[in-house]
Amino acid sequence: MIKFDNVTKRYETGQDALARVSLEIGRGELVFLTGHSGAGKSTLLKLLTAIEKPTRGQIIVGGQNLGRLSRGQVPYFRRNIGIVFQNHQLLFDRSVFDNVALPLQVAGYAPRDVARRVRAALDKVGLLSKERQNPIALSGGEQQRVGIARAVVNKPSLLVADEPTGNLDPELSAEVMGLFRQFNAVGVTVLVASHDLELIRRMQQRVLALQAGQLIYDGVPAHEPQPA
Ligand code: ADP
Ligand code: ADP
Repeated sequence: MIKFDNVTKRYETGQDALARVSLEIGRGELVFLTGHSGAGKSTLLKLLTAIEKPTRGQIIVGGQNLGRLSRGQVPYFRRNIGIVFQNHQLLFDRSVFDNVALPLQVAGYAPRDVARRVRAALDKVGLLSKERQNPIALSGGEQQRVGIARAVVNKPSLLVADEPTGNLDPELSAEVMGLFRQFNAVGVTVLVASHDLELIRRMQQRVLALQAGQLIYDGVPAHEPQPA
């Protein structure tokens, strides 16, 4: 599903945000990306979603070589990727329903299909009863779940999240992680970037760790019993 071959990203400012990173993520995997602030997590996700271009190396996502994508092809490529942001980026001038509907409307779905899919997505994140509310009236955890519904409403085969629990307390974070596990269970490939190593350890999944732009770890961390 995802292949990075010797990828380096150097921003204009000169520093290598990623240095010779090679990795592969198979279809249907659930993988966490970790590392300290500045390690290169966001950069890796931006390369993966064709927001940024690599300075060197090759990136293949869903069989597409991103280096060969034309500017016009990028929006079509992105339609197959659901993206969840830390600050959820919801629009407070419209309802929960309309926030989730947005990607479908942009893609030109018929209103009846939009309604059906939006309700299915809201149901999956447990927010069907709040469809008419303005997201500003929701809690932080609920807002993040609306962001996740919006990311999956188009049924993407790849779901990518950048620090999705950054603003949430541990309980809500676990809930959000549970949702990612749920989507993964129905076949979605999921990549979650988070610096919360404690939370990640508890998930018992494959972890990729970056440090100063280099991939320093790839495996399933040993389980450590949590204090009661
Ligand atoms: P530091 O000592 O500054 O914490 P490390 O080299 O230990 O730096 O780790 C850098 C990052 O890589 C950590 O934030 C952690 O997320 C990740 N990491 C390192 N080793 C492992 C490991 N064995 N399992 C999971 N993640 C790891
Ligand atoms: P993380 O998501 O792990 O915090 P980032 O990918 O945001 O790491 O950043 C990796 C490195 O690249 C950092 O040193 C950061 O300052 C630098 N960086 C990130 N984005 C830019 C940019 N647009 N221009 C210049 N440097 C950047």
